[in-house]
Amino acid sequence: MSHAFVEVQKAAKRFPSASKEAEPLTVFENISFQLEKGEFVCIIGHSGCGKSTIMNALAGLDQFSEGSLVMENKEISGPGLERGVVFQNYSLLPWLTALENVRFGVRARWKTWSDREVTDHSMKYLDMVGLKEVVDRKPSQLSGGMRQRVSIARAFATKPKLLLLDEPFGALDALTRGVIQDELINIWSQDQQTVFMITHDVDEAILLADRIFLMTNGPQARIAEAVEIDLPRPRQRASIVKHPHF
Ligand code: ADP
Ligand code: MG
Repeated sequence: MSHAFVEVQKAAKRFPSASKEAEPLTVFENISFQLEKGEFVCIIGHSGCGKSTIMNALAGLDQFSEGSLVMENKEISGPGLERGVVFQNYSLLPWLTALENVRFGVRARWKTWSDREVTDHSMKYLDMVGLKEVVDRKPSQLSGGMRQRVSIARAFATKPKLLLLDEPFGALDALTRGVIQDELINIWSQDQQTVFMITHDVDEAILLADRIFLMTNGPQARIAEAVEIDLPRPRQRASIVKHPHF
């Protein structure tokens, strides 16, 4: 038995190729890594190297072709409320307001809570990402940065043990990204969830992560040794202007 919070062992992913005769596409093989409870891990690597494929397996939305994936000593075989996911393209429900979107997740998680408790808890997380003033707006009435903040608030509000973020800031401008990175670290340092985040931005990984996994590219890609980042928290940038309405 492993003492790691999450353990991936000898994972491989192969997709069937378009023609029957051709070999299947091997995205990666022999990938092994562990996540410790409460750490913030970033995974970086070239486009197409298989980062989202790994994350989808951790989320239980897809499965590895080979290898094992264990969380708290249990094999993962499907999605679960103890894991939360944030994608690049805001997966908000368009017909619900920001508050209702967060309430939706919180209600699903704690079915016995009163409406008041669900609302108060949801508001607390929307406040942490600076959206208190706009909670009654629908996604179409929010900027891209605001929508992504709602997604982050929703994911954290359900207090998943493992939070999976797939390039959550990929579509945002640099200034907005900087502000939301700070909010993410703020919310993470309060709740101490384990975060596994994909990014193509090396600076972002260095700023946010306790450890970085670098995925090498190519058909035989594998995760290289984790690069240990030896920077004490809190790490702060001097140049970001705080403004809640990006
Ligand atoms: P990344 O997130 O690192 O950019 P992905 O995990 O999305 O990469 O994809 C890795 C590789 O797997 C790519 O070559 C992609 O084309 C291929 N791939 C992903 N999903 C599928 C699928 N459903 N069928 C076939 N190939 C896929
Ligand atoms: Mg991807």
